[in-house]
Amino acid sequence: MAKKILTEHINVPGIETFDVYRKQGGYTAVEKAIKTMTPEEVVEEAKKSGVRGRGGAGFPMGMKWGFLAKPEGVPRYLVCNADESEPGTFKDHHLMKSIPHLLIEGMIISSYALGANKSFIYVRGELMYVIRILEKAIEEAKAQGFLGKNILGSGYDLELIVQPGGGAYICGEETALLESLEGKRGNPRNKPPFPAVKGLYQSPTVVNNVESIANMSWIINNGGDAYAAIGIGRSTGTKLISASGHIEKPGVYEIELGVSVEEFLNSDEYCGGIRKGHHLKALVAGGSSVPILPAHLIMKTANGEDRLMSYESLSDGGFATGTMLGSGGFIVFDETACIVRNTWNFSRFYHHESCGQCSPCREGTGWMEKVLHRIEHGHGSMHDVDLLVDISKKIEGNTICPLGDAAAWPVASAIRHFRDEFVWHITNPHEATQPGAVYRGE
Ligand code: NAD
Ligand code: SF4
Repeated sequence: MAKKILTEHINVPGIETFDVYRKQGGYTAVEKAIKTMTPEEVVEEAKKSGVRGRGGAGFPMGMKWGFLAKPEGVPRYLVCNADESEPGTFKDHHLMKSIPHLLIEGMIISSYALGANKSFIYVRGELMYVIRILEKAIEEAKAQGFLGKNILGSGYDLELIVQPGGGAYICGEETALLESLEGKRGNPRNKPPFPAVKGLYQSPTVVNNVESIANMSWIINNGGDAYAAIGIGRSTGTKLISASGHIEKPGVYEIELGVSVEEFLNSDEYCGGIRKGHHLKALVAGGSSVPILPAHLIMKTANGEDRLMSYESLSDGGFATGTMLGSGGFIVFDETACIVRNTWNFSRFYHHESCGQCSPCREGTGWMEKVLHRIEHGHGSMHDVDLLVDISKKIEGNTICPLGDAAAWPVASAIRHFRDEFVWHITNPHEATQPGAVYRGE
């Protein structure tokens, strides 16, 4: 059985309540941190753990904390990014609704480490019932002296606020989230300055993902070194993976980083294999924003080694032969999936969610959607395939925030790996537009 850090107690009946969570050892890490450690010592444990940002970027959390500016007399903030909206990603939702105190405990420890006295959990606006679960848990923790004024008699104060999100994917981009939290339209800001220097209300702010913060209780109880001993290389610890698509057992799984893709996909402990009678066609390993891989590149890296569920192994070979671990949204396609239709679907999403600030993204996502629509609906021309590649190149790297890249990569990688399927749609429009028609190869 693989190591469980976040989900060990997730199925204990009543774990969403303070009493049951406490009986399972909950809030001992807050006691340890606040009563026996300085904030600097807590930061040091986060650094030692090597835990990387679990929202998708994989930036080392301890290093990010180390960047936090500390000007005299200026408040600092911790903001938890719980605006999970990446298609195929639903792990934070699972964690918050099932074991809310794990996040709250992590928020208290992290806020103490950063010297924040007011912290926020910005939750995807559609998840009102999760917001209520978190608010109830916060009330319970407050009633027990773990939140509010003078926590555990230490002199440390913390107010924790749950903020419903603005209802747009872009509000999950950290600077758009801060704008939204300030009551404005969720438009991303230019970086630098990074939030660590100028964030919420222009004050130093750390923005961390739910899963990243939830790791802190275990790290404080067991030590950063113990966390770093789990996983593989610079991919330390465990990771929640949301698995969906044509597999026997869709769901949220906690894996030790470094397990092979083959084992994750086929073993009964995880996905249980491709649904019966079908075979693997393609995979998106890290949520809809990352390149798609065809079956022959999924199990082995560019060097012919087993591909592992880790930041390094999944991106091995770069854009040409790799993908990314990203947010851990593992979307599996069997041979019944149409790559053109799926790419058009992703494109529709990014076009709809573009905030419209930069023209390559605003116009480019619309053009890509239009061109993909006509190919999928039997009106494409051969020129359209190269046109899509050209548009994706014009977007990539030329926008304020990563939504532009996220829109470009799935299109460019789908054409790179499945060009024949696009050509088939164009040269066989009548056949390709029949209900359920899928390219099965020459
Ligand atoms: P990023 O690499 O720009 O930044 C990562 C983090 O490190 C940020 O918090 C940033 O402020 C910080 N940082 C980086 N360099 C810094 C520096 N020099 N000084 C101080 N801080 C610094 O990536 P990002 O824009 O935060 O995230 C993009 C990722 O988000 C994508 O890879 C995608 O997978 C993911 N994503 C996730 C979801 C979801 O629902 N989970 C949705 C959309 C996108
Ligand atoms: Fe807005 Fe797109 Fe520019 Fe991001 S890349 S700021 S979503 S227009």
